[in-house]
Amino acid sequence: MSKRTKRIKKVKTARGGNIEYLDEVGEDQYGTYQRALLSMTRGGKGKPYNVYMEPSPHLVLDTSPSPRGWYKGKNESDRVRPRPCYTEALLTTPYGGFCPLNCAHCYVNGGTRGYRATGLPAAHVVYPDKLRAQIAKINVSGAGYITSFSEPFHQLEPKYHVTRRLAQVFIDEGLPIFYLSRSIPPDWAIDTLQENAYSYMQWSINTGNPDHYRKMSPGSYDLDDVYERIQDFSEQGIFVSIQVNPIVAGITKLADIMLLLDNLKQAGAHHCIFKFVEQVANNRKSLMARMGKRGLPDVDKFDKVFSQVIGGVYTVAQDVRVEWLKAILEHTRKLGLTMSTCYEYYNDGHAGSNLAPWFTTSDQCHGRGVPVYYRPSPGAPFQPVPGCYRKGCLYCSDYGTRACGNDKLLHADAMEYKDLRETVIREVDDELWAHVDSCLMPEDAKQSTRNIIFYSNPKMLTDAEMWGWGEVDEIC
Ligand code: SF4
Repeated sequence: MSKRTKRIKKVKTARGGNIEYLDEVGEDQYGTYQRALLSMTRGGKGKPYNVYMEPSPHLVLDTSPSPRGWYKGKNESDRVRPRPCYTEALLTTPYGGFCPLNCAHCYVNGGTRGYRATGLPAAHVVYPDKLRAQIAKINVSGAGYITSFSEPFHQLEPKYHVTRRLAQVFIDEGLPIFYLSRSIPPDWAIDTLQENAYSYMQWSINTGNPDHYRKMSPGSYDLDDVYERIQDFSEQGIFVSIQVNPIVAGITKLADIMLLLDNLKQAGAHHCIFKFVEQVANNRKSLMARMGKRGLPDVDKFDKVFSQVIGGVYTVAQDVRVEWLKAILEHTRKLGLTMSTCYEYYNDGHAGSNLAPWFTTSDQCHGRGVPVYYRPSPGAPFQPVPGCYRKGCLYCSDYGTRACGNDKLLHADAMEYKDLRETVIREVDDELWAHVDSCLMPEDAKQSTRNIIFYSNPKMLTDAEMWGWGEVDEIC
């Protein structure tokens, strides 16, 4: 910082960070900026950055995380929570830093390090171009997940179009996508989802109580508005999946979840995925404090049931989770909605085991069966693996089609960029599309969403029922 540069203004950000603006302004291809001192640890010493002012203060970053799948594999040591998710996905991060939706329960904003600590959102502007070059080098892929980290239809999207450009990268490669949002998507999102028969929309809604929802997620939609948008997407033939996540039991009642399910069914949603709130021990107290500050009732009841530690992580007591999930299973069956769980573990005396098979009636956790994609020859466009197990890699070696014949995929390892480049499938068998447990072939996947739900599991059995695993009470 030059000696003549003065600190002119200190601004408090939404999550208690400080921005110290300096009297240096400038302009570049992203617009007018003001220099400011920002720290990557909350309350830490600041370094100068450009803060762009339009449409609201934000950062522009040229960082670009490499493409990758889930962070953990199926077969981890006893001390590490194993991957419980059935859905293969390529994780993406169009926007970073502080998420302006400002949800009270957010795991991203709840962290204290990195760009989120500045209290400012950030656009990864060069990310789609870099990802395009990186995807060209990989040989296998799940659907592009836009995004597991932040809001894809972000307030910065109309300026930078990172999500739209990212979606186009996947479309150009012939890959399916799914968005996960707490916003009302623009119409172009429908067009991008209609490009691939397996693509789908996912929204996150964690309670059917409109007042609680507003307090927990002040930057998100009104529930009535999202129900309307679900109807739009559904009527245009798009599969709609809902993350009921995180369920803050105690504040949220089981009746709120049942009401939500009734409304979702009426709006035309197809699938719901359930996840109870969790938090590492260090952040438990601040999570409680945030819920209280938002004016939410029954924080003491939440405090009481948020009592179980599995694998070093606080979660809602197992008996409460199982009791609610049993009731939800019965209700979703009655409504004709498929269900699954998201990172729900039972206590196995170690880091936790996957609870999902007792409560999954869908093909994959995120909803529909989406095959893994491969390049038939180096540089060729991606194609779906014929006969790929409708439930994904996690249980394919035990119960699936094993259609890819690839040991790494059959082992359901955590796939980093290097693994995605080195894993090669060349030999496939088109006849395997006819396998009873195959994902739908692309032509059939375009058919009605009702057919997608019920083609393989008309009685809506759970996996534990199909695989003869016994009652959940035997393990919980
Ligand atoms: S055949 Fe099975 S292991 Fe292979 S990619 Fe498909 S789901 Fe994964």
